[in-house]
Order: sequence, then C-alpha cells, then structure tokens
Amino acid sequence: MANFVYLVGDSAAREVFLIDPAWQIDTIFKIAQKEDLKITGALVTHAHYDHCNGLDELLERTDVPIYVNADEVDFTKSLGERGGTLFGQFPASNTKKVRSGDSVKIGGIDLTFIHTPGHTPGSQCFTVGNRLISGDTLFIRGCGRSDLPGGDPEKLYESLTQKLMKLPDDTILYPGHDYSDAPTSKMKDEKIKNPYLMCTTLNSFLGLVGAGGKGL
Ligand SMILES: [Zn+2]
Repeated sequence: MANFVYLVGDSAAREVFLIDPAWQIDTIFKIAQKEDLKITGALVTHAHYDHCNGLDELLERTDVPIYVNADEVDFTKSLGERGGTLFGQFPASNTKKVRSGDSVKIGGIDLTFIHTPGHTPGSQCFTVGNRLISGDTLFIRGCGRSDLPGGDPEKLYESLTQKLMKLPDDTILYPGHDYSDAPTSKMKDEKIKNPYLMCTTLNSFLGLVGAGGKGL
C-alpha cells in the first residue's frame, strides 16, 4: 500500500520513535540496530490498519508507549467489532492519549502533536522543527479520503486550511504514503500547487473531494 514508516528522534542520543508501526517491524528493527538507534516509543497518525498493523509485534519486542490522539482511541473503542479489519485497536497498557498542542521529548528533541480530524476523527500530524509528518491528512499534491467510516470532509477542510496551511513555507512535508514522484515536498510548493490546499471555499473543496481521494 506504499506506506511510509518513519524513525524520528535524536541522532546524538541515538533515541528514536517509530511513526506508524506497520508492515515490516522486523525490517524496521534491523535498520534501527544497524544504525545504532534505540526505539523508545511509537506514534500513530491514525488507526487505519495499514498504519498500525505492526503494533502487536512491536509490543512483543519492546515495551514502549504508543502515542495516539484521544479522539482516535475513543473512536476505535466505540466501533468495537465493527472496526473489523479497517481499524486497529490500542492496548490500554501502553497507549498514551494525546491532544493537539501536546508535545513529547525524544532524547533532546521536541515533537509536537497537531490534531487534524477529517480523514478519521483522531488523525494527527507531528512537527519536529521545520518538518511535518502528515499521515493521511495531507499528501504531496493530494489529501486523504474523507468518505471512510469516521471521515468528515468539512473537518478535513478545516484541518488543512486552519492548521496545516498556517505552517511556515519552509516546512518540509513527510506524507503517510508514497503517492508522488518524490518522497517529500515543501509546504511552500503545496500551498500553491496542491489543488486541495488551493480551495478557497468549503464548497469548492467538497466538490473536489467528491471526486475521490487516495488510499486508506
Ligand atoms: Zn488512512
């Protein structure tokens, strides 16, 4: 499904968090070991299974906190069995509920949480310095779907225009899927080239997302 999984942290302290624990946990651990990095936590952009299907395997290997937006935890809990194979569940023992504006230290660096509902109720993005890790809220020249359970196109519009559009131009975007020619982009370019960010009214945005979005 062309997911991006990221290791983010402190290169001096060799301490990293795993963003979106999914698919190839063994490979991720091998890379971390090779680079002499210790995985001390995990961050979940949202609960779709392609972003968290490695959670059990991760916790079998190491007992680390999992940071999930509070609304996403509550939403997946409310779905129960109806969450089926589309949504993951988060074990209470390791899950730390976070909210917009919260931050966490990884070694000596600060990571900040931004709640960006719309793709799912508790979708969240992370900023570290001038880097934005956007999950499925914002892609390079695209945005996430809002037609899946828990999706809300009006909230997605608000998240994109009121939160992500306000980030500085020099912000570098790291999306949740490899849907473009390049793995990253500059917000400066997205603001003028991403058709979803260029919508100046909710109605024009709703017309555009009606045409469909990408991936899960
Ligand atoms: Zn998704």
